[in-house]
Amino acid sequence: MKFDLDEEQTEIRDIVRRFTAQEIAPHAESWDELSYFPREIYIKMAELGLMGMTTPETYGGSMLGRLAGALVYEELAKGEMATAVGLSVHNMVTGSIARFGNEEQRQHWVSQLATGKLLGAFSLSEVSAGSDAASLQCHADRRDDHYILNGSKAWVTNGGEADIYLLMARTSNGVGSAGISCFVMEKGTPGFSFGKQERKMGLHSSPTRELLFEQCEIPVTNRIGAEGQGFKIALSSLDGGRINIGAVAVGVAQAAFEVASNYAKERQQFGHPIGIFQGIQFLLADMAMKIEASRLLVYQAAYKLDEGQSAGMYASMAKCFATDAAMEVTTNAVQVLGGAGYVRDYPVERYMRDVKVAQIFEGTNQIQRIVIARTLLGNLR
Ligand SMILES: Cc1cc2nc3c(=O)[nH]c(=O)nc-3n(C[C@H](O)[C@H](O)[C@H](O)COP(=O)(O)OP(=O)(O)OC[C@H]3O[C@@H](n4cnc5c(N)ncnc54)[C@H](O)[C@@H]3O)c2cc1C
Repeated sequence: MKFDLDEEQTEIRDIVRRFTAQEIAPHAESWDELSYFPREIYIKMAELGLMGMTTPETYGGSMLGRLAGALVYEELAKGEMATAVGLSVHNMVTGSIARFGNEEQRQHWVSQLATGKLLGAFSLSEVSAGSDAASLQCHADRRDDHYILNGSKAWVTNGGEADIYLLMARTSNGVGSAGISCFVMEKGTPGFSFGKQERKMGLHSSPTRELLFEQCEIPVTNRIGAEGQGFKIALSSLDGGRINIGAVAVGVAQAAFEVASNYAKERQQFGHPIGIFQGIQFLLADMAMKIEASRLLVYQAAYKLDEGQSAGMYASMAKCFATDAAMEVTTNAVQVLGGAGYVRDYPVERYMRDVKVAQIFEGTNQIQRIVIARTLLGNLR
C-alpha cells in the first residue's frame, strides 16, 4: 500500500493549486458578497479538462478518475467551496449521461458538457421529497414519442445557470423508486421555468433554484436509460458525488486550519503568541488529525470506485466523516481567531457558513449513517 501521490496525480494537484490561487481565491470574498456565479471560471476549468473528469476521451472528457478528481475538488475548495460544488454537480451529470446514456445521447450532450460548452445540474430533490427522495411526485406521462412533464423540483445547484438538467421524474403511478425515470431537460424548453432562488446562509456564489414544469413536452429520446431506472442512476451518481463532497470538505477544512495555525503563531496575548497555550495547541492538533483522517477516507472511497469495487458505504463514510470534521474544524478556526474570526476580515467565517451545507446535501449525514449501518447489518425488519 502506497500513501504517496504518483507523478500524474501530483501534477494534476499542482496545476489546480496554481489555478485556484490565481483565478479563484482572489475573488472568493467578492463572489460571496455579491452572490456572483462565475460562469467564466467554468470555461477555464474546461480548458484544464475538469468538466469531464469521469468521461472518456472519445466524448471530450479527460477521464482523470475519482482519486485525481478528489485532489481537484480539495484544491478548488481551498479557494472557494461554491465553485468546487458547482463543478462536482456538473461532473455528476456528465458522467451519468456518459455511463447510462445511449451512443446518440453521449455524442450529443456529453461532448458538449465535457468541453464546457454546456453546464449541467442534477435534480432529484423536491419540496416534499428530500431524504425520502423515492417519494418524489414530479410526473412524466408518456404520449407516443414524447413525455409531458408536470410538477416542480427543489434545491437545484447551478439552477438557472445550467443548460442541461438531469432530472428524476415519476413515469408510473404508485409509490417508491421503481416508477422513477431519468431525463435530460434542456433550458429553454417550453413549459420549463425557474422558481424561487434560495437565499442561503453560505455558498452564496452557488445558485440554488426551484424548477417548474407545466405541460412541458420533451421527446422520448431525452430519457436516459430505461423507464424505471432513474432512481438507480441517481443513487449511482450520488456515490461519486458524496466522495467529491468529502474532498471539498477536506479542502475547506485545510484552508481553515492554515489560517488558524498562522494566526496562532502571530497573535500575541499575555506576552506570547497564542499558539504557546495548550488550549489553542490542542484545538489545532485535533483539527490536523481530523483533516488527515478525512483525506484518507476520501482517497480510499475514490480508489474503490476507480477500481470498480463496491464503494457505496465507503463513499458515505468519507462524506459523513469529512463534512462533520470540516464543520468542527471551521468552527474551531473561528474560535482560534477570537473576534477576528467572526468578522469578514478573515475568510474563516465564510468557510464555516459555507461548509455547513455539506452535512446536509448529497444526503444528510443522518442518511449517510443509515446507509453505513444498513450495509453493515443488512435491512433489519
Ligand atoms: C444549498 C443546497 C443545494 C442543494 N443542491 C441539490 C441539488 O443540486 N440537487 C438535488 O437534487 N438536491 C439538492 N439539495 C437538496 C438536498 O439534497 C436535501 O436538502 C437533502 O437531501 C435533505 O432533504 P431535506 O432538506 O428535505 O431534509 P429532510 O429530509 O426534511 O430532513 C430533515 C431532517 O430530518 C432528518 N431525517 C430525515 N429522515 C431521517 C431518517 N430516516 N432518520 C434520521 N433522520 C432523518 C435529516 O437528516 C434532517 O436532519 C440541495 C440542498 C441545499 C441546502
